[in-house]
Amino acid sequence: MRNMGDYMGDYEAKQLILEVGRRMYNKNFVAANDGNISCKVGENELWATPTGVSKGYMTEDMLVKVDLDGNILRGGTKPSSELKMHLRVYRENPQVKSVVHAHPPVATSFAIAGIPLSRAILPEAVVQLGEVPVAPYAAPGTQEVPDSIAPFCKTHNGVLLANHGALTWGKDPMQAYFRMESLEYYALVTMYTGSIIGQANELSCEQIDQLVDTRTRLGISTGGRPACQNVGRDGVPACVEQKRCGGQCAHGGQQPAGTAAGVEMEDIVDIVRQVMARAKR
Ligand SMILES: [Zn+2]
Repeated sequence: MRNMGDYMGDYEAKQLILEVGRRMYNKNFVAANDGNISCKVGENELWATPTGVSKGYMTEDMLVKVDLDGNILRGGTKPSSELKMHLRVYRENPQVKSVVHAHPPVATSFAIAGIPLSRAILPEAVVQLGEVPVAPYAAPGTQEVPDSIAPFCKTHNGVLLANHGALTWGKDPMQAYFRMESLEYYALVTMYTGSIIGQANELSCEQIDQLVDTRTRLGISTGGRPACQNVGRDGVPACVEQKRCGGQCAHGGQQPAGTAAGVEMEDIVDIVRQVMARAKR
């Protein structure tokens, strides 16, 4: 099992990048040649996807190895100008080993609307992803883009990029990609419940506290804390009614970073079920 400080080898990193590229293209998270993926293989080196290529049909020889300043070390292709975002995440948070950028349609719509994904409606989203803030708009390719995401790299697992798309990160390409999947699913359910069904029963402050405790026990220390809004028909949030949250209900609370080694998705789902069952009693 890989420790937090260990890096995967070139071969494994490249294979996972190709796999994530296929998945995100097939999931309709990117159109044409959009999106990019990177994975660190050392303190100052990483593999990244090239510009101008569909991420669903990449081969190993298309990938390019760069250092944390973006200088090309190996490979004959050019990385995307969006690589600057990846490099900034690695600089801000050395625990991050992989970054994924895509334009999933529902999450991108929230990014265009400037609405963060911060409602506590799905236990898995609270534990695995946390809240997802919106980084302010910056013109593509400029230094303002990495600057806009910098404040979230240590505290969150992903951000929406205003009028652009989404960026997620993690300890390896699969975790970073799964966070992108969770983010799009979270956005989809938020849209269904908010705009189509028009009703969402949000988790209570107590339920959120339990989920955040679970997450901390799993060693996941990033993700922020969704707000306990649970607003009743009288317009009063549940945490105000319960008078138990104090100042803790505001979102943006920082949690420590990383994921416990060896914790599988099934374990997390099981723990979440237990927490929910307890909360219902
Ligand atoms: Zn993009």
